[in-house]
Amino acid sequence: MRVLFAVSECVPFIKSGGLADVAGSLPKELKKQGTDVAVIMPKYQDIPAHLLANIKKRCYFFVPIGWRNQYCGIEELEVDGITFYFIDNEWYFKRSGLYGYGDDGERFAFFNRAVLESLPYLADYPDIIHCHDWHTAMIPFLLNVDYKWKKEYSNIKTVFTIHNLQFQGILPREVLGDLFNLNDYYFTADNLEFYGNVNLMKGGLIATDKITTVSPTYKNEIQTEYYGEKLNNVLKQRESDLYGIINGIDEETYNPETDPGITANYTVTSLEKKQENKKFIQQKFGLKEDPEVPIICMITRLTSQKGLELVRHVFHEIMEEDVQFLVLGTGDPEFENFFREMEYTYSDKCKAYIGFDENLAHQIYAGADLFLMPSKFEPCGLGQLIALRYGNIPIVRETGGLNDTVFSYNELTEEGNGFSFTNFNAHDMLFTIRRGIGFYKEDKEVWHKLMKNAMSMDNSWAQSAFKYNQLYAELISRSESHVF
Ligand code: ADP
Repeated sequence: MRVLFAVSECVPFIKSGGLADVAGSLPKELKKQGTDVAVIMPKYQDIPAHLLANIKKRCYFFVPIGWRNQYCGIEELEVDGITFYFIDNEWYFKRSGLYGYGDDGERFAFFNRAVLESLPYLADYPDIIHCHDWHTAMIPFLLNVDYKWKKEYSNIKTVFTIHNLQFQGILPREVLGDLFNLNDYYFTADNLEFYGNVNLMKGGLIATDKITTVSPTYKNEIQTEYYGEKLNNVLKQRESDLYGIINGIDEETYNPETDPGITANYTVTSLEKKQENKKFIQQKFGLKEDPEVPIICMITRLTSQKGLELVRHVFHEIMEEDVQFLVLGTGDPEFENFFREMEYTYSDKCKAYIGFDENLAHQIYAGADLFLMPSKFEPCGLGQLIALRYGNIPIVRETGGLNDTVFSYNELTEEGNGFSFTNFNAHDMLFTIRRGIGFYKEDKEVWHKLMKNAMSMDNSWAQSAFKYNQLYAELISRSESHVF
């Protein structure tokens, strides 16, 4: 079974969020379970130099984008037994960062077409192309309308995974011809048309053989109007091909027992050593070194998806508690500035590092006590999974993957690995934070129980990769592709 992951970001090469973690860790587990996986992604300028230096050229050809033919190099590198192919075009990808350019639509239209055109040049044709989010959503569509007549492509099946339904790749009608070489026939409600524009995510959803998303709760939520981002009806129509498979984390990268980036390694049986990590971050951020004061942290994109309006609404009340608050994040200027201001206002107990820093993230996961993630919606969420592994107790809103992985502590049964609240309501969140602080300060026994419950959860990829493999196997056994 040969699977090709087509993805816009992937650890260890480049990361803006959880998608890169998934693309970096799921293939490793699939391979362990016997699937031959390769990954194809753009060759970005910001790939670390030591990796860039080892990437080898394979070949080049030209890719049609409207009336133009664009250069497309294929390069490759093997890491941990996985072959990574890179699509090289300096105009599109030799830029800083990942996204946010005015021509992102064109950049990823090129990438989609380039992936399909590259198949004859790779080691093997894949049985399955597994696409992720809007950046690769048009691969299933283009495969169906432009390539299926070719013998080598005729049996290729596709899986499309929604990591975040909010970002859909909505572009003006003209892109059909100008970027995708498609005629106006496809500008209908049954095809790519979406409120007068073209929606690339919709292209993936209607054309792919199977759709997955990254948690069972999110799978149900996105079929409703509230969470469906105007694609709920399209998803509902494909309900029988829609699966919710929870993400795992790379248990080697996020392992407090072996993590080389933290001050003191620890396990569920040596929890006292976690204190040294707490002391380290208190020193590092200039907070009072007091083990009795709980540190609440957030490590996140600073966007309203992550429930930051709730935090802003009751921040002064949170600061009335005997707590320390640490934020590591980057994103919308309004939230970046809010936390800068709060750091200024509460300089002895609130610290904000506005930026993206993987090493610092590990130190904070290991050093803090409570991990706040009150998302408005959360397809899966990796932050809370990593926090659990480090015994950093999550406080979450019961939505998406947070609902599937964090279970509010129950005093009667002593079950649970965190704290949660249901409604998107700032005072419900505040109450839940106070509940967490209360246990931390007044009931050390419960706190230890919580840490043990959290750290002993199995959030590895083993079970989820097995489910993906089952899905691939089922698809391969079918002679027919999905018809739309
Ligand atoms: P999303 O993919 O929506 O951003 P997830 O919780 O699924 O959210 O994944 C976020 C990932 O990015 C986690 O690995 C988290 O630790 C990491 N992360 C988020 N912000 C930062 C940051 N500022 N610095 C370092 N890592 C970050």
